[in-house]
Amino acid sequence: MPALSVRDLDLKGRRVFLRVDFNVPLKDGVIEDDTRIRESLPTIQLALDRGATVIAASHLGRPKGTPNSAMSLKPVAERLAVLLKRQVTFAHDCIGDPVRQAIERAERDGNRFVLLENLRFHAEEETNDPEFAAGLAALADVFVNDAFGASHRAHASTEGITKYVKPSAAGLLMEKELKHLGDALTAPVRPFVAVLGGAKVSDKIEVIQNLLGRVDALLIGGAMAYTFFKSHGVPVGTSLVEDDKLDAARQIARQAASDGRRLELPIDHVVTTTIEAGAPHEVQKIGDPAIGDRKGVDIGPATVRGYVAVLAGARTVVWNGPMGVFEVPPFDEGTNAIARAVATVRGTTIIGGGDSIAAVTKAGVADRMSHISTGGGASLEFLAGRTLPGVAALSQ
Ligand code: AMP
Repeated sequence: MPALSVRDLDLKGRRVFLRVDFNVPLKDGVIEDDTRIRESLPTIQLALDRGATVIAASHLGRPKGTPNSAMSLKPVAERLAVLLKRQVTFAHDCIGDPVRQAIERAERDGNRFVLLENLRFHAEEETNDPEFAAGLAALADVFVNDAFGASHRAHASTEGITKYVKPSAAGLLMEKELKHLGDALTAPVRPFVAVLGGAKVSDKIEVIQNLLGRVDALLIGGAMAYTFFKSHGVPVGTSLVEDDKLDAARQIARQAASDGRRLELPIDHVVTTTIEAGAPHEVQKIGDPAIGDRKGVDIGPATVRGYVAVLAGARTVVWNGPMGVFEVPPFDEGTNAIARAVATVRGTTIIGGGDSIAAVTKAGVADRMSHISTGGGASLEFLAGRTLPGVAALSQ
């Protein structure tokens, strides 16, 4: 059942605790990418327009329960003031009397937007401490969760808080994420093709298992493919392999074959001795013993042609994980080619966060995707078919 929406709430004169995902990349106090902040603006604006006081809260980085000025949300408050074109009150903590007083002062001054300091400066956030959750809840009359990227964690500000403040509603970004990913999983326009890459098969076993039963084709790239190859005795040189996942890979391949599912692995690849820009490299067929002690670092041109042909017919595409070591040219060619192919799909294209966002941005095609998820880990868990605790806790 869909969660209650912020659009359904009467917010006039009410204090809204708005959990957002402002976990932005920061370098020396400068925000390098403010996408996550901008993606939250529609919910913030809606709540302000409806007369609420917005108390926004987020984590940033991994301060492990202690205040750390390098992970302060203050630069985010400054960016928000510019984006919202209004005064933003920054509270130097996220809980307790000084915060309550800062909210009261802001309201007295006619300023209805307060950003709290990093939730993870308190260890109780991640341990989902009930007293801490109740303390957060005491700051507001309603709870709105717009932090899709944090919703796969049962933390005090995503799950615990819902026990102490009601109702708990989904924000507009949360709704958008759930709709795009949910529609792809449950009602995709077919053919539905998933592209999975990246370093580790272990991160994506459940995603592969869940998607295999739903997609028309699943295309595998990246280092992940080598665990599948090795599990079938195919020579892989020194390519990245997870030896403890060989059984899992064999089992997935067996499952796909017995269910008649299309699980595609590369047929050729780019091999090199060292992963360095411009290092000597050559294209080889998969299984060629000439790989010796070299490693595979990108899908090859024949694989690209095959995958592009499958994508050309797709009407729904979900992509997570690069096809090779895309950070190091020329080993980004396979990933770039797939990014361009996904960009031309006539249908819904969903990028599942993390490195795939960097890949489509680098290929210059980010604005041609239907949806780029703000939550890497959360979108993977969603695609694996798991319940996200921060979503399950919302009022129906
Ligand atoms: P993940 O976080 O699992 O999505 O993995 C992303 C990482 O996988 C990127 O940093 C890529 O450089 C890396 N990667 C992709 N293909 C390969 C490969 N063939 N060998 C080594 N690393 C790879």
